[in-house]
Amino acid sequence: MTSPVCVRCGGPVAVVGDEWTCGTHGRIEPLHQPLPAEHHHLWDVASSSAVPVWVPVPPPSGWTASGVRRTGGTGPARGVALSLQGPGVTTRVAELVIVSEEPGVGLGAAYAGIDGTDPGPEITSLPRDTSLHVGGQRAPLWSLPVSDRSAYVGEAAGCWLWVVAWPVTEWMVIHDSLTLLDLRENRERVAEVPVGALTPRLAI
Ligand SMILES: [Zn+2]
Repeated sequence: MTSPVCVRCGGPVAVVGDEWTCGTHGRIEPLHQPLPAEHHHLWDVASSSAVPVWVPVPPPSGWTASGVRRTGGTGPARGVALSLQGPGVTTRVAELVIVSEEPGVGLGAAYAGIDGTDPGPEITSLPRDTSLHVGGQRAPLWSLPVSDRSAYVGEAAGCWLWVVAWPVTEWMVIHDSLTLLDLRENRERVAEVPVGALTPRLAI
């Protein structure tokens, strides 16, 4: 089995007791290798996660789940990413990564392509840019200043919610009628999510 890597840079990590460290980032959450989004892998992640495992139900038309990745050493995951792939409006294949994490982890920032682990406090002083139906509520999302992808962040169920789309022109897949369910509480709904091949997009 391949060793975990640093959640912030994908570099090698050292472990002493319960602490994982990266030579560049110091103490970090270890990040496990991506897994195909087969339903048993999704269930395994959902059963060992301290944060919501957000799954779009239904997914955008023609889209499939293309991988899942979790952080965590011996304890429950503090960060989970699900990727999806499908026909874009401007491109043949578009991709989406949805991250749920506790503050300070940095998995969402890594996929969004921004420095640090959390969005800055200035985010919420601006009007929201879009919103999603998340866990039965409407979660406002703010766009982040990145140029090679479309990245949004907000808060849902007490955790950061990051939604990142590639290429940058595919931002419209992140829209008001997209509905996310927490797989931990909706395991029977996972069967409604079609599964595709593992994407390289989940590399950090
Ligand atoms: Zn690192």
